[in-house]
Amino acid sequence: MKKTKIFLLFLFILTGISLTFSQSKNRQTENVIIITLDGFRWEELFGGLDKDLVSDKAYTKDPEGLQKMFGASAPEESRKKLLPFFWTEIASKGQLYGNRKLENFVNVANRYQFSYPGYNEMFTGYPDTNINYNSKILNQNKNVLEFINQQEQYKDQVAVFTSWDVFPYILNRERSKLLINSGSEEINIPGKPLSPEMQILNKMQDGDPHFLGGDIRDDLLTYYIGFEYLKEYHPHVLFLGFDGTDDFAHQGLYDYYLKQVHTTDQCIAELWQYIQSDPQYKNKTTLILLCDHGRGDKPKWGWTDHGESIPESGQTWLAVIGPDTPALGEVKTKEQLYNKQVAPTIAAFLGLHFAPEHGEAAVISSMIK
Ligand SMILES: [Zn+2]
Repeated sequence: MKKTKIFLLFLFILTGISLTFSQSKNRQTENVIIITLDGFRWEELFGGLDKDLVSDKAYTKDPEGLQKMFGASAPEESRKKLLPFFWTEIASKGQLYGNRKLENFVNVANRYQFSYPGYNEMFTGYPDTNINYNSKILNQNKNVLEFINQQEQYKDQVAVFTSWDVFPYILNRERSKLLINSGSEEINIPGKPLSPEMQILNKMQDGDPHFLGGDIRDDLLTYYIGFEYLKEYHPHVLFLGFDGTDDFAHQGLYDYYLKQVHTTDQCIAELWQYIQSDPQYKNKTTLILLCDHGRGDKPKWGWTDHGESIPESGQTWLAVIGPDTPALGEVKTKEQLYNKQVAPTIAAFLGLHFAPEHGEAAVISSMIK
């Protein structure tokens, strides 16, 4: 082959690669925030208060109180009272997927339908059948957060704060070298002094009674630690993993399950307000929200639990808002999406192509202009 031909071929390949990588020429996103609400059901996200559960004394201690806070004659009103940020800001400027009543389906692709397999799926894009535990076992699959952190322009620009203490294993901190703070771990930012706010948060965690069980941190603490980190160090990618919804549901406490998600909605609103006031983040940040699995939908059994034997617990939802996302609001298209598509979509928002060894899931193209 002549040199000019080789050069042209080379140019052609290069152009092809760069087109695939940047996807959209006018992409605005320079920062991505991912927030997970563990085991929070699509039923409440789209339908608000579940009437059967509110009237069931086994699960609801204060039905009048809950009705007053979140009750309404129409589900559209109730969901707005429960999750005002989702149903004002995201519904008008972003996208909400997973309302099965509109035949817009989101599911996990893994068959196990519990946490570790769920988080593995969303961050590695691979519903690995070998992962059928919640144990502290280092994940061999490469995740999109470490992939981003390995790119020159995002080096040490990814931070993870979670309530559940298994994330250092799910995201394989040993290998990935990601900044991860989980469970009741002391906050320690390598090479940087702790701010007075962080010092207070450390003291608060020392006194956390861990009423959610085990070594799980209260979501408010996780939120404020992550928020303080964001304000101080301005990472390009932040993942906040909340857990309270799942813990309260497992305990059959419907009041707390709803109040927890309402509080989290307020936290996300505060975070987003800050994002839209800061020069690095304003109009350059995409926020992605999702859950790792659903739960059962029967009033007498099922809603407290999830797993392979409860079919509804594979049903999930997705929400997104940001400068590159068309404002579709509640998506009414008949379609089937999977949580595994979130990994490549996170990368695509940053103009990156996440192509792990185990094969690729498709980017959710409707999320990106
Ligand atoms: Zn879970």
